[in-house]
Amino acid sequence: MTATDRLAEPLTSVLGARTAGGLKKLGLETVEDLLRHYPRRYGSPGERSEIAALANGEHVTVMAEVRSAQVRSMRSRGGAMLEAIVTDGRDTLQLTFFAKRAGVLRMHESKLKPGSTGLFTGTVGEYRGRRQLTHPDYLIVGVDAADEDEAVLEASRPIPIYPAAAAVPTWRIGRSVRTVLDPLTEEDVPDPIPAAVREARELPSLLEALRAVHVPERPEIWQRGRERLRFEEALVLQTALARRRAAREELAATPRPPRTDGLVAALDARLPFALTTAQATVGQEISRSLAGTIPMMRLLQGDVGAGKTVVALRAMLQVVDAGGQAALLAPTEVLAAQHLRSLEQLLGPLAHAGLLGGDDRATRITLLTGSQGSKVRRQALGEAASGAAGIVVGTHALLSEGVQFADLGLVVVDEQHRFGVEQRDALRTRGDRPPHMLVMTATPIPRTVAMTVFGDLETSTLGERPPGRAETVTHVVPAENEAWLARTWQRVREEVDQGRRVYVVCPRIDADELAGGDDAPPTNTADAPGDEPLTLEWEGDDAPPASVPLASVTETAKMLAARPELAGVRIGLMHGRLPAEAKDATMAAFASGDAPVMVSTTVIEVGVDVPEATVMIVLDAERFGLSQLHQLRGRVGRSALPGLCLLVSRAEPGSLSRERLDAVASTTDGFALAEKDLELRREGDVLGAAQSGGRNSLRLLRVVKDADVIEEARAVAQDLVAADPGLASVPALASAIDAWLGPEREDYLERG
Ligand code: ADP
Ligand code: MG
Repeated sequence: MTATDRLAEPLTSVLGARTAGGLKKLGLETVEDLLRHYPRRYGSPGERSEIAALANGEHVTVMAEVRSAQVRSMRSRGGAMLEAIVTDGRDTLQLTFFAKRAGVLRMHESKLKPGSTGLFTGTVGEYRGRRQLTHPDYLIVGVDAADEDEAVLEASRPIPIYPAAAAVPTWRIGRSVRTVLDPLTEEDVPDPIPAAVREARELPSLLEALRAVHVPERPEIWQRGRERLRFEEALVLQTALARRRAAREELAATPRPPRTDGLVAALDARLPFALTTAQATVGQEISRSLAGTIPMMRLLQGDVGAGKTVVALRAMLQVVDAGGQAALLAPTEVLAAQHLRSLEQLLGPLAHAGLLGGDDRATRITLLTGSQGSKVRRQALGEAASGAAGIVVGTHALLSEGVQFADLGLVVVDEQHRFGVEQRDALRTRGDRPPHMLVMTATPIPRTVAMTVFGDLETSTLGERPPGRAETVTHVVPAENEAWLARTWQRVREEVDQGRRVYVVCPRIDADELAGGDDAPPTNTADAPGDEPLTLEWEGDDAPPASVPLASVTETAKMLAARPELAGVRIGLMHGRLPAEAKDATMAAFASGDAPVMVSTTVIEVGVDVPEATVMIVLDAERFGLSQLHQLRGRVGRSALPGLCLLVSRAEPGSLSRERLDAVASTTDGFALAEKDLELRREGDVLGAAQSGGRNSLRLLRVVKDADVIEEARAVAQDLVAADPGLASVPALASAIDAWLGPEREDYLERG
C-alpha cells in the first residue's frame, strides 16, 4: 500500500461498517476526511457544564464529575436499574440505566467511578422533580488508558470537542480519530508544506500537527498544531492562485502602447476638470500594463464618486489609439445606458467618427443590450465585428456567442461583484489572444479578501475623491415616528423646489413580491454553487419580522403622490422589470428634473450619476447590506451640493440591524465600512462557494483575522511557483491543490 493510499482508505475498511456509517452522516468517508475533521474547541479537565442551565427535552452533552453509582434490583417490576449521580460542583443530574439483570449493569457501575470525570450525552428528562438522562451515552476520561499513569495523563489533557451529530457523539469521533491516527507514520502522511518551508518556520509536520490537534497534551500543543494547519490552508490556496497567475502570464496579449497624439491626448485636452493625482497615477499603472504582452488583470477599486469612469475611458482610448477595440460591461441596462451617455458626453465630437463635425481621430461607441430590437442589434453587432466601433458598451448580452469583435484589446467590467466568473471568461477567451482586463469595483475590498478571492488580480486604488465635493450626511429615521416622516417628505419638497433630485429606494417592486426578487444580477445558467457570482450583500438575522409588509416601489409611489407635502411633484418609477424604454424615460425625466423624485429598487445602487441628486431615502433600510447602503448613498453628494441620506427603519435600538445602520450613519469611509461589514457578516459569505460547506472548504483560515498568515503564504507561494512552475519538486503540495481545491474550484478562484 502506498503512502497516499493510507489517507484515501475508506473508513468502512478501517473502522467497520457501523462506525463508518455514523461518520458518513457527518460527510466523513475516508481516513483523511476524518483526520481533517478538527475539534471545534477543547474542554479543559477542570471544566464542568452548568447543570442548572440544561433545558428539559434538549439533547445535550454534559461534562461532569461522577459522585455515586449504584445498581439496584427493582422488586416491583423485576429487572434492575443503575442510578448514578453526576455533578458540576453545585447541581446534580441523575443518570438512569435499566436492564433485565443486574449483571449487565455492573459494567457501567465499574466505569462510573466516583470522582472520575466524564462526558454524558442524552436527552434531558425529569422524574420526580429531578433532572435526568436515561441511558445516556458517555465517556469517562482516561478509562481506556492502559495503566494508572496513562489514565492520570489522559484525565489531565484538553478534551477535544468535535462538531458532532446526535447519533455520533463527540467522543466517538475522538475514538475513531485515534484508531486511524495512532498507527500512521510520517511516510503515510505526505506533507503539502515543503520541508524547507517548514524548517524555516519551525512548523511541525502534518502528522505531528494532526496529533497535536486531535490528541493534545496541553493547550499550547493544539494551538501550535492549528497554526500550522491554518498556514497549510493558506499556502495551498495561494499556491493555486500563484500557479494560475503564472499560467496566464505565459499567454501573450497584443501590446497596446500609448500614443502621444491620439484620443487619450485629445480627451485630456477637452476634460472640464484636471485629473486628480490618484487618477493620473492609476492611469499610468494601467497604461504601462496595456503596453505589455502580459494580459493585464487588474482590479480598480475606488469608492463611489472616486472618478473611475474617466480612468476606464482613458484606458479604452489607449487601446483604440493602438488599433484595437474595448468593451465596457455593465451589470444593468440602466447602467449601460448611463455609461453610454457619460462616455459620449466626455468624448463629444471624439465619439462621432464618420459624422459631420467628428474629429478625424474620432471613434465610435456602440451600445449592445438584451432588450434591443433586432434591427438596432444587427447594426450594433456589425459595428463590433467590423471594428467601426472602438468602444462597445453593454450588459451581459455582450457575452453571448453571436457577438464578434474585429480586435478586442480590453474588457472593462464595471461593478464586478454582479458578474459570475464564467461570464467574464466568455469575453476573455474570445479570439485567439486574450484581451487585457480591468475590473472596477466601488465595494472596497480589504486587501486580504482581494488576495484570497481575487488572488491573481493586481489592484489599483483611487483613494482620493475629486475636489469640490460636499460630503453626504446620513441619519437613521425610526419608521414609526410619524412626525419625522412628515418632516422627511417636507424636506424632499424643499429640495425639489430648489431644483434638486431625490431618490426613494424600496426593498421590493410591488406588494405581492418577495423582497429581493427584483434586479437579480444577470443570472448564470450553471447552478453549481461555485458558479455563483460573488455577492457582497448581507441581510440582518434579526431584521424585524415581516408582519408589517415591506415598502414596495408601486405602493410607495402611490403613497407619495397622495402626500400633501409633495402635491404637484412628478414621481418616477424605476425597477428591473420595466422595459428598457421605460427605464430610459424615467432616467431621462429624473436627470432633466421633469420627474425629480424617483422611487426605485436597488437597480440604481451602482454607478448612476445625476449630479443634481441630493437626497437618498432608503425605506426598510435594515433589509440592505452595509456596502449596499454605502453604494446607495453614493448616488447623492456627487457635486458641490451637500448630500443627505435618510435610512428609514423599524429596527429596534440596540438590535444588530440597528447597529449596522448606525455604522453606516457614523462613517463616510467606504473601506472602514467594508471592514465593519466583514466583521458583522458570516465568513462564508465573503468567500462564497470557495469557503462554504463541503469537504473542500477552508476549515481554519479566516480571511479577515488571518491577514498575516495569508500574506506570508502568498510570498512563499510566489517563490515556490517562480522556482518550479510545475510544482514537480513539491508533489504533495501539487496534489493537495488538486485534491483539496479540485479542478472546478481552481477555475472558480481564477475569476476572470
Ligand atoms: P465612480 O468612481 O463612482 O464611477 P464617476 O466616474 O461616475 O465615479 O465620477 C463621479 C463624478 O465625478 C462624475 O460626474 C465625473 O465627471 C466627476 N469627476 C471625475 N473625475 C473628476 C476630477 N478629476 N475632477 C472633478 N470631477 C471629476
Ligand atoms: Mg461608476
